[in-house]
Amino acid sequence: MNIPHIVIVGGGFGGIYTARKLEKLAKKGKIKVTIINRTNYFLFTPLLHEVATGGLSHASAAEPLRQIFKPSRSTGKPLGVAVLQGSVKSIDTASQTITTDKCQIVYDYLVMASGAETNFYGTPGAEENSLTLKNLLDALTLRSKIIDAFEDASIVHDSDLRKKMLSFVVVGGGATGVEIAAELSELVFKTLLPSYGFSILKEDVSITLLASSPDLLSQFHPKLRKTAFNELIKKDINVKIATSVVSVGKDFVEIKSAVAIGLEDHTTKIPSGLTLWVAGVKPSILDIQGVNRHPSGRIIVDSFLRASKNIFVLGDTSTGGDGTPAPMLAQVATQQANIVFQNVMSTIYGNDNKLKIFKYKSKGSLVSIGKWYAVGDVGGVKISGKFAWWMWRTIYLFKFFSWRKRFYILNEWTLGLFYSRDITKIR
Ligand SMILES: Cc1cc2nc3c(=O)[nH]c(=O)nc-3n(C[C@H](O)[C@H](O)[C@H](O)COP(=O)(O)OP(=O)(O)OC[C@H]3O[C@@H](n4cnc5c(N)ncnc54)[C@H](O)[C@@H]3O)c2cc1C
Repeated sequence: MNIPHIVIVGGGFGGIYTARKLEKLAKKGKIKVTIINRTNYFLFTPLLHEVATGGLSHASAAEPLRQIFKPSRSTGKPLGVAVLQGSVKSIDTASQTITTDKCQIVYDYLVMASGAETNFYGTPGAEENSLTLKNLLDALTLRSKIIDAFEDASIVHDSDLRKKMLSFVVVGGGATGVEIAAELSELVFKTLLPSYGFSILKEDVSITLLASSPDLLSQFHPKLRKTAFNELIKKDINVKIATSVVSVGKDFVEIKSAVAIGLEDHTTKIPSGLTLWVAGVKPSILDIQGVNRHPSGRIIVDSFLRASKNIFVLGDTSTGGDGTPAPMLAQVATQQANIVFQNVMSTIYGNDNKLKIFKYKSKGSLVSIGKWYAVGDVGGVKISGKFAWWMWRTIYLFKFFSWRKRFYILNEWTLGLFYSRDITKIR
């Protein structure tokens, strides 16, 4: 009997959660499952801002795939989820063949969960002159560049130049922008500044957060948005709302405030020694025929999360099957994984009448604002402050797959309560 082969493209939230559900059946030999991912680890993106600012080490935000999926050897031959570290180049849906940079793989059922990449919205100079925060390398690069800026500025005597070098601009008023700006403030003012003595003064350093919308964190109730805004101001962050970015240069960001929209020439250039672009994402586009795309680039799926009879798509790369495109959130991807698992199995067993419809149910969300503060909406209850922050950390800790990782992070978080951040430059 031919054992159906399910191939999952992408080892992020959507892919891993689907594979974890399928693993039991794979271990029993009922199905074959292969997961293909660019890196050899699952990346826990919600903690990236802490890695980028020395609050956590890179190992805390990543779990190696081969430690998540341990093959069972009880039957004499390894069974379970097979892992392939590789980059998918193209998918031929007619021959059901995936071409990676290493080999070709034939599938019976395809699960696409290849995630998203940074969206610069065609802003001139943004891609060339900004750093991003999408993967571990981005986080480590950002951390190094922040430290470099301090090192270089510490030997400059011209105070105007020093101020330019130490002006940090974060573009994006969503959760990632708020979280990274707050952590940046902690790194810069509480760890780096004291480490450079009199060579750098507090007034030499500036952090600006730019949001194109009239408010930060637009997913929240206005009261929480205001709380978040005030908290950032307390952290010496210069928050500019209703401000769109016109262009980004090597040492500046050209902005236009909402009141000036329509007045073509009314733009201002603010100095920027380091620009971080976290203003949005777009789906990663893979060369795959036979699927329909939404104008946003996401693959269109039906309410069962199918792009075709044997192709299931979830996470940031899928429209989500729930009417309007689903929010690009880990929470959405993990809920979809459950539906994809059930629908793949129903399809394999020919139980089309048992296919499940995907309906997103938000459990709420929490956004950290530096150490000891978070805002959020959990099950309709608005919370902020230390309790929200504690909840944010606890929830994320239990999202990791192994106790080994949880203890690792807990250890780093505990040390972080007593000691300053790690400013070892790795790259
Ligand atoms: C900094 C940051 C913070 C975030 N914080 C939160 C948060 O607090 N809460 C929340 O709900 N969401 C958060 N998100 C969003 C969340 O990470 C995404 O919505 C979620 O990861 C989507 O899951 P996914 O499976 O679609 O994609 P991903 O988790 O991004 O996984 C995609 C995987 O596919 C792999 N891949 C891509 N292309 C290929 C290819 N060609 N070949 C092989 N592998 C490939 C990638 O390497 C990656 O591992 C955050 C995102 C970022 C960037």
